[in-house]
Amino acid sequence: MKAPASETFERANILGKVRCLLLDIDGTIIVGQERTPGAERLFEAIKQSGRSFLVVTNNNSISLAEHAERLRGAGLPVEAQNILSSAEVAAEFLKEEWKCSSVMVLGAKALREALLGRGLKLTDENPDCVVVGFDTELCYERLKAACFAIEEGCKWLATHPDVAMPGAEGFWPDCGAITAAICATTGQEPDVVLGKPSKYMGQAAIRRSGFAAEQVMMVGDRAETDVLLAKENGMSSTLVLTGATQGKQAKASGADLIVDDLGQLAQLIEEGTKAHRRKEY
Ligand SMILES: [Mg+2]
Repeated sequence: MKAPASETFERANILGKVRCLLLDIDGTIIVGQERTPGAERLFEAIKQSGRSFLVVTNNNSISLAEHAERLRGAGLPVEAQNILSSAEVAAEFLKEEWKCSSVMVLGAKALREALLGRGLKLTDENPDCVVVGFDTELCYERLKAACFAIEEGCKWLATHPDVAMPGAEGFWPDCGAITAAICATTGQEPDVVLGKPSKYMGQAAIRRSGFAAEQVMMVGDRAETDVLLAKENGMSSTLVLTGATQGKQAKASGADLIVDDLGQLAQLIEEGTKAHRRKEY
């Protein structure tokens, strides 16, 4: 069914303001190792229309270079400098907000390196705080050590809330699941949870875009992280139905645009660009 003219105008209007698109990874631009339908076309439409993009992910189990390699492997033109992960946001938060100098980390090599890169010392001896990430190298002794530190009053943060990451074989326990184990043991919630949809992630992404919040659009497959991040930070949002959200849930998400796949979003950008060019001549 064709969208009513008013709706089409409304859509064009929303996209007309947008100068930078923030793109989620899993369920949005790729699923497993494959790019989603229309993803390649969206990158081209963004480029042709003179807009920019920033890939924004909560996944800090791999480095920015590894994220970029995975995306290029799926045929998408993404470099490490086009990505913001919750690891960089955590490192910045620890230095700027909590003024930490030493941290105990339950996290993969990529997270540890991001923290080291910001000049934080990694230690299990009297750390300023405990940092819990997507720890694909988790071992019981370290989980226990983190619980002891928190029981003794050490403050702690989770780099993102996701409890499960969809993989080809099934769901992987993500940062939120490890956080839940610590909460169950210590009876204490993290002092802060970063990543999408936190304001720290939203503000970091907006700063990196170089535009005002209302000129930035978040494109993702989850209402509770991607769409909420946009709403809480004054950005517009597009929900794409190639991932975690379907049907009724999508309508209730409150996203500004809902598209079946990224090809539809690319088309809206292309149409806007054509209309804009017509005006110029
Ligand atoms: Mg996703």
